[in-house]
Amino acid sequence: MKVLVINCGSSSLKYQLIDMQNESVLAKGLVERIGIEGSILTQKVEGRDKYVIEQPMKDHKDAIKLVLAALVDKTNGVIGSMDEISAVGHRVVHGGEKYAQSVIIDEEVMKSLEDCVKLAPLHNPPNIIGINACKELMPETPMVAVFDTAFHQTMPEEAYIYALPYEYYKDYGVRKYGFHGTSHKYVSAKAAEAMGKNIEDLKIITCHLGNGSSVTAIKNGISVDTSMGFTPLEGLAMGTRCGDLDPAIVSFLCKELKITVEEVENILNKKSGVLGISGVSSDFRDIENAAAEGNKRAELALTLFNYRVKQYIGSYAAAMGGVDCIVFTAGLGENSPETREAVCSGLEFLGVDFDAAKNKVRGKLTEISTESSKVKVYTIPTDEEMMIAKDTVALVK
Ligand code: ADP
Repeated sequence: MKVLVINCGSSSLKYQLIDMQNESVLAKGLVERIGIEGSILTQKVEGRDKYVIEQPMKDHKDAIKLVLAALVDKTNGVIGSMDEISAVGHRVVHGGEKYAQSVIIDEEVMKSLEDCVKLAPLHNPPNIIGINACKELMPETPMVAVFDTAFHQTMPEEAYIYALPYEYYKDYGVRKYGFHGTSHKYVSAKAAEAMGKNIEDLKIITCHLGNGSSVTAIKNGISVDTSMGFTPLEGLAMGTRCGDLDPAIVSFLCKELKITVEEVENILNKKSGVLGISGVSSDFRDIENAAAEGNKRAELALTLFNYRVKQYIGSYAAAMGGVDCIVFTAGLGENSPETREAVCSGLEFLGVDFDAAKNKVRGKLTEISTESSKVKVYTIPTDEEMMIAKDTVALVK
């Protein structure tokens, strides 16, 4: 059974075609600049040169048409016809309180996704557009929605309610939802497997550190708290997002800079985080290089980022009454030994005995604590697409 996994952003689209018989990725690709000048599709197939198509794509439907064409292309494709695609799995950012699990997409689900647009105005619209485009092009193919928020629906009330007038939760859905759920779920299961233990007996803290970053507390296999909130803006400092902040700063900046609330929100989302502090870049590689050359603000951005990850680990260890395992994943968590070491230094009091030699690794599942460490530390590559494909198969079957 072959499953197409689609992840639609506002002007981009990531895809993977996965053969679920042996869980192998047949092709993966990225479409960028959808609806703007310079639209481009890049497809990668193991052992072959990149296949690049540059042609105008006015919307996501054009993009998906081209994805399908690239997959069935005589020389560069990997399947004979579209009929070989048994199902499509869509990453959907926000499922609100309604979805604690993935679902087969039908009319009622589409309506619920529309209802969630208010909660995720930046993320859900492109997801919906992508689903509709796929439905038009492959009307007979079953489709599944896999939500970033679903895994966190197990959080207890005290973790997800904000200390605001309670009716804002009841009337407007103002609460913590959390994101990156698919990734946190995947790496926590992998960690339990690597430890040879049942996840139901473990307290795990997963650190998804990429452009967007979040930390999750997973007790007995379920999410009990996570650092992102009502939107992905809360929690850690990120590439361009501010993370935790005194809310009074918003009105202060509106008054001082004479700008609107929306403009401040845009600054908090796009111009803050390690970009805002360093003034260099949102990419940690650039910041690490700048810091190595003596740029003090770049150094501060890294120190502050690591400090917040450490704070969340401490907080979640307290929330769970201990921790058995800490996991680092995503772009930075998989590829930056420096970040992992900085975060774990000083955590000896929790029972972490970090192994700096084993830590010199990138992009593969590795235990990076000593054999005798009470708390096991791992770096584990995440694989959200495989999780989406697995959920899709489970539902479609
Ligand atoms: P996204 O949230 O966009 O999915 P990723 O999980 O792909 O992000 O992470 C991207 C980030 O990972 C990059 O912005 C970069 O800062 C960081 N990163 C990737 N490779 C390295 C590396 N070798 N060293 C340090 N940071 C890295």
